[in-house]
Amino acid sequence: MTSISDSECLALWERGYSLHALDRGLLLLGMEIPEASYDALADWPLGERNLALAALRSRCFGSRLQAWAACAQCGEKMEFDLDGRLLAGRAGQTGAGAPVEVNGHFYRLPTSRDLAQAAQEGDAFQAAVRIVDACRVDAGAPAQWTEEEVEAVGNGMALADPMAEIVMDLTCPACGNQSSEALDLVDFLWSEIEARARRLLRELHALASAYGWPEKEILSLSDRRRRLYVEMVRG
Ligand SMILES: [Zn+2]
Repeated sequence: MTSISDSECLALWERGYSLHALDRGLLLLGMEIPEASYDALADWPLGERNLALAALRSRCFGSRLQAWAACAQCGEKMEFDLDGRLLAGRAGQTGAGAPVEVNGHFYRLPTSRDLAQAAQEGDAFQAAVRIVDACRVDAGAPAQWTEEEVEAVGNGMALADPMAEIVMDLTCPACGNQSSEALDLVDFLWSEIEARARRLLRELHALASAYGWPEKEILSLSDRRRRLYVEMVRG
């Protein structure tokens, strides 16, 4: 597999920019798994989705993933480095397959579709209940969930699908405060695609204005040649 081309990047950005983050995730997943339908991908457990996104990210932007989070205590920037290949290599750790048993009931793992439906709830607890209800696979009367029960099911699911949420333990270099930060791969990858698309548009604008070349022709230039032209145009 190769990286995505400039015109593919622009087309992807155009298709995704007005979408909800979950749909963007599915759009990106479809880039990596083109043979699967959108509906099938919406039913993938989140850990499996994240592994495929890590693979996509590695081939489009390299395997080194640098990000940062602000310290909750002092606001200092806490930088961290992740190796996308290590993420993608955790394939054996997704909990696809057997349902998860919690307190005598069985649950499948949550998917993008479950999250999208839960996002319609205004309240965080009701959203969690909706996911737990949707994922319960054994028959029986609908449960009246307590917060403890919902939390227990959530913990069981997280243990069964550790890649569903990529959490890093960080220590603030300024004040030593320790915290756990979740890395949202969809957001992360999308912001890179957006940055690349905007850079391309600025370059297209500069060259089209200066030389009157059509977009297609400018995009067919090599990256190096295009940048040199842009440098000359900008003086
Ligand atoms: Zn701090």
